[in-house]
Amino acid sequence: MKSYQDPEIVKTLGKKISALALELGDKKIKICHVCGTHEYTISHWGIRSLLPANVEVIAGPGCPVCICPNEDIEQAIWLSKNGYTLTTFGDMSRVPSNQGSLLTARAEGASIQVVYSFLDVIRLAKKNPSVKYVFFSIGFETTAPMVAIELLNQQIPSNVSILSSHRLVPPAMKLLVGQPEIGVDGFIAPGHVSAITGFGIYEPLSHEHKIPIVVAGFEPADVMFGILEIMQQLIQNQPKTENLYTRVVTREGNLKALEAIDNAYTTVDSQWRGIGMVENSGLELANQFSEYNIRVKEDIPPSEGRDIPKGCRCADVILGKIYPRDCGLFNNKCTPENPVGPCMVGSEGTCAIHAKYGGYLSFGEEFNLE
Ligand code: SF4
Repeated sequence: MKSYQDPEIVKTLGKKISALALELGDKKIKICHVCGTHEYTISHWGIRSLLPANVEVIAGPGCPVCICPNEDIEQAIWLSKNGYTLTTFGDMSRVPSNQGSLLTARAEGASIQVVYSFLDVIRLAKKNPSVKYVFFSIGFETTAPMVAIELLNQQIPSNVSILSSHRLVPPAMKLLVGQPEIGVDGFIAPGHVSAITGFGIYEPLSHEHKIPIVVAGFEPADVMFGILEIMQQLIQNQPKTENLYTRVVTREGNLKALEAIDNAYTTVDSQWRGIGMVENSGLELANQFSEYNIRVKEDIPPSEGRDIPKGCRCADVILGKIYPRDCGLFNNKCTPENPVGPCMVGSEGTCAIHAKYGGYLSFGEEFNLE
């Protein structure tokens, strides 16, 4: 067993966190992570069961398909019914919109193809030059470079267009800090995103708002070290950005990927599903690549539908205001097989993860580590 999964180390960290929590008396501490993979680690390993009652870890907007707005999905469906073959990732194809999901649109005759990467789309387009393809390009800083590099290398056939729905994580963290009703005391910053952005990107936020931001990896000990570091900073009243994922993340990040993002995209204010407009949080293709921008090439009708389905509380789940079990539809009308809302779709959705792992298992329960 890898040391980052060693139950004794993880339990010892739990005891240290509990000891620090005692020093805070009755004060409740709310730590927010913004990554679906962190929620997986926390739920899968039963991390919450090791935390004292006054320390809570909530899931923020860390699932890219969950926060993709209804409007963008409706645009994708419209394109797939109006002369284009819409290509996207498997999880995205299942996310509900007011007009159903991309998969239900396909069942009704729309032209939709699931792909594993943008390179698949390029291959398809070269093989079928008479077909007009659109790549519904979603995700955070981690997936944005994939299209950017192909644009900059001029490797995209003329029968491929892009529907960009990329979002940037730091602006969403900033928005959460500004919401006192959520009351975030510290962040576990996303490890994968930070590998691209570098941890330096969080320093202005932790400095300005005096909030601990700790970059952590994805093993149970990584997450526990992250929580411990946040607790120590809070007790010492020395909030700052700290990188504990040094085996992957640097201060500067991936300079090649960042340069590609800078050159291929322009930053725009963007809608996040369940949250609304977030300043400077989206990536649209830069003007020099407008020949590939489907929003420039086509007059796509605007969406007027609801952002969140009736009865679904994804907006509160995405903002860490409630746990999935607090939604009346959780695991009855809404299941991973039949998702009502976007948070029940895919491996990074908080509701889907809680449906699978409970979110509150005792530590090691599933693996009989005791
Ligand atoms: S359980 Fe389903 S309906 Fe409820 S918040 Fe989650 S995704 Fe929405």
